[in-house]
Amino acid sequence: MTLQSVRAEIAKACQAAVRAPESVTLVAVSKSQPISAIEAALQEGQRVFGENKVQEAETKFPALRKKYPDIELHCIGYLQTNKVKMAVGIFDVIETVDRTSLAEALAIEMKRQHRFLPCFVQVNTGEEPQKGGIAPRDLPALLYVCRDAGLRIEGLMCIPPVDEDADTHFSLLAKLADEVGLAKLSMGMSADFMTAIRYGTTHVRVGSAIFGERNF
Ligand SMILES: *Cc1c(COP(=O)(O)O)cnc(C)c1O
Repeated sequence: MTLQSVRAEIAKACQAAVRAPESVTLVAVSKSQPISAIEAALQEGQRVFGENKVQEAETKFPALRKKYPDIELHCIGYLQTNKVKMAVGIFDVIETVDRTSLAEALAIEMKRQHRFLPCFVQVNTGEEPQKGGIAPRDLPALLYVCRDAGLRIEGLMCIPPVDEDADTHFSLLAKLADEVGLAKLSMGMSADFMTAIRYGTTHVRVGSAIFGERNF
């Protein structure tokens, strides 16, 4: 696929779900991609990107922003507390708030830098021990801490287990967001973004379907 075909698929899924195509934001996941691939997407009008490592984002994006100041960069990877300062400086949206210590560190750093970034809470819908994200039952308590700290939580994000049907996880995340009164959802990747649109997602995070396979 390419950026054009991913956009066409999103439009098709929106039509099938009787949703406006603008109700879905495509986050182009550019992790491990070279600057040249990101520039090509920028030339095709893409502005929203996702990176999972603070250091990598820091080496690639400041130069691109000089040319394209309206880039919106999302942090979609596990965020270490000692990287919060750099993360608040480089990202525009943090999708991976998943614990109270991180929420508190982000709130402090955002006040310090006067950059009040919108955030998502990552939910570990599959309760996988090796994966980031808060367990569904602990979500209300984490949201309380976030609000108390003054963090702008706008939605929920999840990465379903690779070996399971994504439907269950998308439907659970949508239900949780509804229960806690959050309007945005970040779910769906290359293999299942069409499904996520059916479950009402507002953000899809698509990498390999746009840029091709990654060489790790
Ligand atoms: C890599 C990654 C994606 C994109 O995955 P693809 O399968 O390449 O579309 C989406 N979300 C997160 C959190 C990722 O780390």
